[in-house]
Formats: sequence, C-alpha cells, structure tokens
Amino acid sequence: MPGIGPRSAERIALWIVRAQSDYPEQISRAIADTRQAVHPCALCGFFTTDEVCDICADSSRAFRGRYHSLGGKISPLDHVGPEDLRIKELVERLDREKISEIIFALPADVEGEATTNYLVDLLKNRPVTLTRIARGIPAGGGLESADELTLYQALSGRTKL
Ligand SMILES: [Zn+2]
Repeated sequence: MPGIGPRSAERIALWIVRAQSDYPEQISRAIADTRQAVHPCALCGFFTTDEVCDICADSSRAFRGRYHSLGGKISPLDHVGPEDLRIKELVERLDREKISEIIFALPADVEGEATTNYLVDLLKNRPVTLTRIARGIPAGGGLESADELTLYQALSGRTKL
C-alpha cells in the first residue's frame, strides 16, 4: 500500500493476525464496499458514488467553469507517463464541448510543471486560451516565511498596478 513501508506492513500484518476483535474484517468490508461504490465521474473523472459528481451536477455554482481531473501528474521516477493520465479524455472534451479557456491548477512541483508544460505543448495550436492559477505568497503571509520557489513564483507572476 502507498506510504506503508516494510516495518509498518509487518506491524499491520501482526495486528491483523493477533486482533481480538473483528476490526480486520470490518476494515476488509469497508475497503471492498468503497471499491464497489466509488468510481470516476463520467464528466470530470474525479471520485464519485454517482454517475456524475456533485460539482459537475450542480448547475447553480457561482463559478461556471467545469473541472477535469487528470488523475495524477507526469512522473518518470514513479513510472507515470502522459498515457497514464486522463489527457485523451481532456482532448475529447475539447472536441466535444465549447471550451474557451483551460485553467491549469497543478501542484507547483517538478512533476506539476512537467505535466503543465506537456499539456501546453500538446494544446498550443488549439483555439483555447491556456492559463494557470496564480502562485506565490498567500494573503496574510510574510516574505520571511516563503521558500525560494514560492518567492520566485510570486515575483515572476507580479501584476502591474
Ligand atoms: Zn465530475
């Protein structure tokens, strides 16, 4: 399981074998029930227990934008390439729906940047505006607590007053 190292796995295995209660069976049923009930939203690909998730189904949201979950980031070290993400589905949505802008909101790390750059290159000749959410110092945050990357992004994303 992700995040569980060999020592933790051994402790969990021993707990399962020695448990005096039915917690292991309850956990097993909960995992099976979750796998049965949760699946990707038919539109955005995020997790839902319905055909379409609550966000995609809500036509009264103040923000009219639609979401699309890629299901991860390009990460060669983790053997995740573009073909492992929901990029084909994104391109199909571009062909099918009237989309004027794609706002990228990937994490500000190396894999997030690589994924954004890959998609920008892939979509650059399409009639759609490509933007990303703002990055930098949070409102109320101070410069003294910002790391170098955050400070760099705040400076490079500055706006004229
Ligand atoms: Zn959805």
